[in-house]
Amino acid sequence: MNKNYDVIVVGAGPAGLMSAISAGEQGARVALLEKNKKPGRKLLMTGGGRCNVTNNRPVADLITHIPGNGRFLYSTFAQWDNQDIMAFFATQRIPLKEEDHGRMFPVTDRSKTILQGLTTAAEKAGVTFLLQTAATKLITDGEGRISGVRTDQGDFQAPAVILTTGGITYPGTGSTGDGYKFAKALGHTVTPLFATEAPLVSEENFIKSGALQGLALQEAALSVMGKNGKPIVTHKMDLLFTHFGLSGPAALRCAYFVNKLLRERPDQPVTLVLDGQPDATAQEVATQIKRMLASKKTVKNALNGLLPERLLQLYLDTLQIADLPAVQMTEVQVQQLAALIKQFPIRVTRTIGLEKAFVTAGGVNLKEVSPKTLESKLCPGLFFAGEVLDINGYTGGFNITSALCTGHVAGQHAAQTVGYW
Ligand SMILES: Cc1cc2nc3c(=O)[nH]c(=O)nc-3n(C[C@H](O)[C@H](O)[C@H](O)COP(=O)(O)OP(=O)(O)OC[C@H]3O[C@@H](n4cnc5c(N)ncnc54)[C@H](O)[C@@H]3O)c2cc1C
Repeated sequence: MNKNYDVIVVGAGPAGLMSAISAGEQGARVALLEKNKKPGRKLLMTGGGRCNVTNNRPVADLITHIPGNGRFLYSTFAQWDNQDIMAFFATQRIPLKEEDHGRMFPVTDRSKTILQGLTTAAEKAGVTFLLQTAATKLITDGEGRISGVRTDQGDFQAPAVILTTGGITYPGTGSTGDGYKFAKALGHTVTPLFATEAPLVSEENFIKSGALQGLALQEAALSVMGKNGKPIVTHKMDLLFTHFGLSGPAALRCAYFVNKLLRERPDQPVTLVLDGQPDATAQEVATQIKRMLASKKTVKNALNGLLPERLLQLYLDTLQIADLPAVQMTEVQVQQLAALIKQFPIRVTRTIGLEKAFVTAGGVNLKEVSPKTLESKLCPGLFFAGEVLDINGYTGGFNITSALCTGHVAGQHAAQTVGYW
């Protein structure tokens, strides 16, 4: 077996596959190591099995949708961006379609199509797949330059190595955080790892009682409140109440900020605020309530349709006014109800853990990585791409975008390092 290559890529997720394609297309002799029997195990699970492969927004918007160090990617996106991802799949004859919020999926609605596109392109670029080959260590020469990879199948030599081992969520897919250990062993620091894009857990009575379980709100505004009582971030997206707390895109997008606050003060729950009518002011909501109250019914019946029934019931129960005759509702009670509709507090104690979160926050410290080439500043010849880096995006295609784009750029520069351009 040939054990000498120009570029070795460690980990065959989207970042590794694209790194290998890009280095191979530059003419480099590339080996792609993967410990699983097949590449792209996590990729197959993405987007509910449909793979939300990228997002059709301007680059500036991509960056704002990557709250974990998105700005580091300016240089990457200047070289290869989401439009290049779409062009790449078009060249592979894999048509993509756009859904809400700019999300791009394969027309087939199958992640397998995306994985096939990547593996076919890698084969065309002459990449050697070394499957069921687990890297155990990165090897350097006497001067601290990368020289190869130690695996359970022996040592492989190359003057350039790209580390694309992913994060540590869903470890059953193979993403078990090996890359962090390898990077640390070469002097890199790894910023604290925690779950993001994960459902939120709440001990509120209305959650524990299941009063709202299964209720889905469209375009509700959910805010994470900071220490000073002001919102740190607000997401106006769909929200789902579950038996343990909150899920759906609005909740997932808040998870990063919830965990950041919990890291600072672990014993204190984080308060989120739900705005059930984000397009109206509190005064407009109060006016609407008053208009509906002009009836002989109870408050509950008079306000039917103002909000989803179970949410309305919860608010009316909180104020103990559900069975009050509508005409008896006072101005203060109207204002109190309007305030609840606009600012309903929900305390969250934690997010679902790393094993079931979509994305890992934290990773290889970006201060130690060149933003232009994605090469280590500490170990020449070592490159990074994908989730192993301290970068995390929202759900919506931003994480695979980051993986594919950093993969492409790292692959290109790794090949250039060894003289193929
Ligand atoms: C359920 C779920 C759904 C998701 N849906 C979406 C979505 O629709 N859109 C989106 O943008 N993002 C989505 N994400 C996030 C996205 O999947 C990841 O951000 C992305 O896969 C990261 O790519 P990567 O190549 O960096 O790492 P990974 O995809 O994690 O790949 C890393 C690879 O490295 C291999 N590896 C690890 N250690 C070693 C070793 N020592 N030796 C050899 N090989 C090794 C692993 O086996 C694995 O195959 C989802 C995540 C989950 C968990």
